[in-house]
Amino acid sequence: MDWFESVKGNVKKTTEKAVAKSNELLEATKLRFSVNEVESQIDELAKQLGEKLYSDYKAGVEVNEEYLIYCRDMDNKNAALALLNDQIAKTKNVKKCAKCGKENALEANYCISCGEKME
Ligand SMILES: [Zn+2]
Repeated sequence: MDWFESVKGNVKKTTEKAVAKSNELLEATKLRFSVNEVESQIDELAKQLGEKLYSDYKAGVEVNEEYLIYCRDMDNKNAALALLNDQIAKTKNVKKCAKCGKENALEANYCISCGEKME
């Protein structure tokens, strides 16, 4: 093999290696993308499962003792959220109607939206 053929051969091998490497990278990227996609589907299913369980619990369906901890924790978080939203309403000088959720002036005696007596 003369010098030129040898160089040509090396260039060809290098190019083939680069193409193979690039295909590997592309394949790895595709796989990572698929992994991310399936992981987010799993997360979404877990979320739906939790929401279904909690809505069953709220509807009075008997829930396994193990899951009650999570449901009661969720009750506590919802209560905390309601308190925080009340505090936000107070900083805005409004109070929310317990019946319809409409924001009313702090001094309002009746809801401007539904007429409910305000506390
Ligand atoms: Zn109202």
